[in-house]
Amino acid sequence: MFNILHKLISNLFGKSPDGGKAGHVSRKRETRSKPAAYFTSVIEVDKTPRNDAIGDRDFIMVVHQRKPLWALFRCPCGCGNVISLSLQKLHSPHWRVKKRAGMPSLYPSVWQNKGCCSHFWIKKGCVQWCLGSMNTSVNDKL
Ligand SMILES: [Zn+2]
Repeated sequence: MFNILHKLISNLFGKSPDGGKAGHVSRKRETRSKPAAYFTSVIEVDKTPRNDAIGDRDFIMVVHQRKPLWALFRCPCGCGNVISLSLQKLHSPHWRVKKRAGMPSLYPSVWQNKGCCSHFWIKKGCVQWCLGSMNTSVNDKL
């Protein structure tokens, strides 16, 4: 807790609050750089939104009477396509969404069979492109 506060104060004042000694080296271990989440939250709605109401990084879950019905989001490759996936077990195929720290994970992977042909996983809000996806240029965008 103190470390967080310390960092916060350091950031606010641009120097260490304990005098800013010359050669002061933070003892805090470097946190491993991890990819920033692409979808940072799951937006739960009870009605399927219009496509133009879906933002670039909105991950929308349509839930009716606590039953997940659909997941909707724009293709992360940037093509702008709205991808809608059924979360209903009666449908084939269907997907599952799990929330970790508010961020979505999607099972199984998504493979667009037309248009951009993107093939990717969403794990903890991060988009993981599958190698072998026909559209290799999407990897350059991330
Ligand atoms: Zn796409």
